[in-house]
Amino acid sequence: MFIDGTWGNATNGAVFDVINPANQKTICSVPDGSGADAVAAIEAAERALGAWAGRSAYERSEILYKAWQLMTERSEALARTMTEEQGKPLRAARIEVKYAADFLLWFAEEAKRVYGETIPAARADQRFIVARQPVGVVAAITPWNYPVSMITRKVGPALAAGCTVVLKPAEDTPLCAIEIFKILEEAGVPGGVINLVTTSSPAAVGDAFVEHPGVAKLTFTGSTAVGRMLAGRAAANMKRVSCELGGHAPFIVFEDADPVHAAKGASLVKFLNTGQACISPNRMYVPNRHLDAFTSTLSDRVQKMKAGSGFEEGVSIGPLVNAAAVDKVDAQVKDAVTGGAEIVCGGERLVDGALGDGFFYAPTVLGGVNQSMQIYREETFGPVAPVIGFDDEDEVLSLANDTHYGLAAYVYTQNMARAFRMFEGLRFGIIGINDINPTAAAVPFGGMKSSGLGREGGHEGIDEYLETKVGGFSI
Ligand code: NAD
Repeated sequence: MFIDGTWGNATNGAVFDVINPANQKTICSVPDGSGADAVAAIEAAERALGAWAGRSAYERSEILYKAWQLMTERSEALARTMTEEQGKPLRAARIEVKYAADFLLWFAEEAKRVYGETIPAARADQRFIVARQPVGVVAAITPWNYPVSMITRKVGPALAAGCTVVLKPAEDTPLCAIEIFKILEEAGVPGGVINLVTTSSPAAVGDAFVEHPGVAKLTFTGSTAVGRMLAGRAAANMKRVSCELGGHAPFIVFEDADPVHAAKGASLVKFLNTGQACISPNRMYVPNRHLDAFTSTLSDRVQKMKAGSGFEEGVSIGPLVNAAAVDKVDAQVKDAVTGGAEIVCGGERLVDGALGDGFFYAPTVLGGVNQSMQIYREETFGPVAPVIGFDDEDEVLSLANDTHYGLAAYVYTQNMARAFRMFEGLRFGIIGINDINPTAAAVPFGGMKSSGLGREGGHEGIDEYLETKVGGFSI
């Protein structure tokens, strides 16, 4: 762990193992921090706040720029660490490291653009100035599915704004967090400004984050259930909160689109990170007359996907993160089949040979999915593409919006007016129109409804770490 500028163990000396999900082998063990360690980290961050906030934006920017350079230089090592502890294919891990580094560069630049304003007053002898200042100590909790970029997307803007940080990474992926903190330390982030508490007992650290009066803001990425609970408790203590939570993305193909092209897009976006993405499509709506062309193209492509260790050449389906994730996917598929869905391909655990040592599930296409099935409502977080037929634009818009999630949605159409109707009518924070990758460091990322509060990335990303202060001057 890294607290107050020093690498060390948990105060009680406890450790926990980090497991490779492709073969269940222990990679190493890391400190198992407690609530007391979290409090020590928060108090170090409080002490470091004044000096860090007092540095010029240019100095903070310089350090973030240096961190971006270091991350770029070390991208291969970081990608390998990610593949080992999280499982995603090395090629995908390299892409994630690049995306993660983009946030450091973006917020190195945004640090210099935290503008205030002057506002005309009604009195001739009065002047109003509005300034933006760091919120204070930020407590950050991140998930395992994007274990590098979810950290830089929070720590980058927090440091740029002049905040200090305590991070608790997911228990499945602490090694990526450790590597990022080494980079930040080497880039020149002063002791106490960033603090890392690794733990296998997130609740104890979470308690400190929501209760300690020194924490000004909680930023959380993870499941809606945990996010809702922590956000409620943090709000009760009047802490600022932002949350990036679950999703249940619709993927709508209209009859004016090429179903083969759309199926290729679906095969790429659905199986990224073995479906373990908050913006992964969870409901594929296809016009009834295109169902055969779409489903057969998708299933042909899916059947060619190779599962295995992310280090193996040609593998595009890595393991799921743990046994519980495989059980959840399997239960959703069985529930759908019981409700009348048809398995077009896949639909089973992969246990042959070396796959049996890890947490593998076959990439799967389900036909005939309907609203009575769990998979239609619940986030799958696995490699299953449920396909649903439809006939009419109004009908599909209302079906797509009929979810308590609101993160991402995808639309395939060649009709510009329809593209605008969908962009405006879909109640989701991120809409891809003929585009399966509608994200970048430069654009805001976040959801509506139960998918979260606030936005990360873009110029809005730094707002989450700033307070507005007004000064009235009588002259
Ligand atoms: P999770 O909520 O179980 O875990 C996320 C983080 O919360 C981990 O660091 C975990 O240790 C921590 N946590 C769990 N219980 C806690 C507690 N009681 N107190 C404090 N911290 C606690 O989620 P998960 O299943 O590991 O992650 C997947 C979820 O994350 C999915 O729902 C996915 O959609 C979501 N996600 C969202 C985004 C986004 O930007 N919207 C990005 C990635 C993942």
